[in-house]
Amino acid sequence: MTEQPVRVRFAPSPTGYLHVGSARTALFNWLYARQKGGVFLLRIEDTDRQRSTKESIDAIFDGLRWLGLDWDEAPRYQSEHMETHRKAAQTMLELGVAYRDFSSDDEAETRRAADRKEGRVYRAAKMRALSAAESKRRAVAGEPFVLRFKVPAGGGSASFVDGVYGPLSRSFDEIEDFALLRSDGTPVYMLSVVCDDYEMRVTLVLRGQDHLTNTYKQILIYEALGWPIPNFAHLPLILAPDRSKLSKRKHGEVVSVGAYRDRGLLAAAFRNFIALLGWSPGDDREIMTVDELIAAFSIGGINKSNAVFNFDPADPKKWTDPKAIWMNGHYLSNMPLDALLPLVKSELGQAGLWDDRFEREDARQFAEIVALIRARFYSTKDFVTLGRPYFTEDFGIDPEAARKNLGEIAMPDLLDALANHLETASSFDLPTAESLVRGVAAVAGFKAGVVINGARTALTGQAVGPSMFHLMIALGRDRCVSRLRRCANRLRDERARATA
Ligand code: GLU
Repeated sequence: MTEQPVRVRFAPSPTGYLHVGSARTALFNWLYARQKGGVFLLRIEDTDRQRSTKESIDAIFDGLRWLGLDWDEAPRYQSEHMETHRKAAQTMLELGVAYRDFSSDDEAETRRAADRKEGRVYRAAKMRALSAAESKRRAVAGEPFVLRFKVPAGGGSASFVDGVYGPLSRSFDEIEDFALLRSDGTPVYMLSVVCDDYEMRVTLVLRGQDHLTNTYKQILIYEALGWPIPNFAHLPLILAPDRSKLSKRKHGEVVSVGAYRDRGLLAAAFRNFIALLGWSPGDDREIMTVDELIAAFSIGGINKSNAVFNFDPADPKKWTDPKAIWMNGHYLSNMPLDALLPLVKSELGQAGLWDDRFEREDARQFAEIVALIRARFYSTKDFVTLGRPYFTEDFGIDPEAARKNLGEIAMPDLLDALANHLETASSFDLPTAESLVRGVAAVAGFKAGVVINGARTALTGQAVGPSMFHLMIALGRDRCVSRLRRCANRLRDERARATA
């Protein structure tokens, strides 16, 4: 027997943004398809017309494109297939596995409450018992009804083998007579998903564990219609630190893929991070290229226990899981410089800091600066915040850094002395920079650290940064000289003002 070609799908309901958990579901499906040489399908579950705006759907497309998760066939829009779904419901009615429930809303509610009290699931016994002729007569007379699945009575269960959780089953006694069509005739999610998966010839349904209880009902529909049942595998949930479900309403932007892009995370790093939420390659690898992920992915490597996202909305450094941020730093430091430069250009452009010289006469210096400062950065946004002094003369001095490093009474003279030596030195390279700095300190009777820290703050406005001598070379002699003098003058002015 030849094996069926793999067809998997990602079936988001548009909600205005792409949820991190949905992105992970999409990624796992995509990895699986790519590994098996199969097909990755996209289905937009847009039957809720109010939420399914163009913006909402675009947010899904944008998020998937950003993550590099390309789909193989035209996206299917669920709302365009409601007629087919209705026909399937009609077939079930004809087969006697569905029934019209004419109960009024009040009646249904009363029954539901009574059933619940007695620990029973919803069954409209009287309606189940209506003869086909009587049921049809009432429908033709225009009496509204909900079409329900007639869960088999008299024992038995819906069972399947989940790719992650193993054999699972639920007794029929625990499955209510769920709706297939609403009283306005529109198909219910439970039915539409099955019809679409069948029509799309999906071979494996890989989706969140929150759909597990739906799977039993969906299997009943497949069986009733005599359709081949796909394989199922359910992914553990991603939880907030307090173990509640990650929700945008409760937890804010940490839940939305767009926030990661907006905050300067790299798609490759974010993809790597979410791949490891509830899945592991079976060894201790963490940093993995997309090809490595494709090769290593397996349903067997999916964890049964829920993944926990460690974030703390009160701490700006922990707006999302620190591991995501750490990973991004790793990617920033290690990606090919050629691939990083355009991203930095775009950030600088948005911040009004881009200068065309950076890719013409100053191209080499620009690349050196990016290479030097990226090692300490965690997000591409850092290039315009912490990195600002490396790209413009218009930067401020961090007051904390000034207090720490510029307070020495002799500092203006030390900075000027360094500027003078730099200006007249016969060469400008790392050893020269280092010996000039140390020389100025020694002559004035200070520890080298005093001049190193002072100069660093004068040159960048900051107390920390890359190696001071390297940064001097990266900035270039002229800029070093003018910044040292500017800072020395500023310090003198401030002191004069303070004593006036
Ligand atoms: N539209 C559903 C959701 O966004 C997914 C349905 C499915 O994967 O079967 O949660």
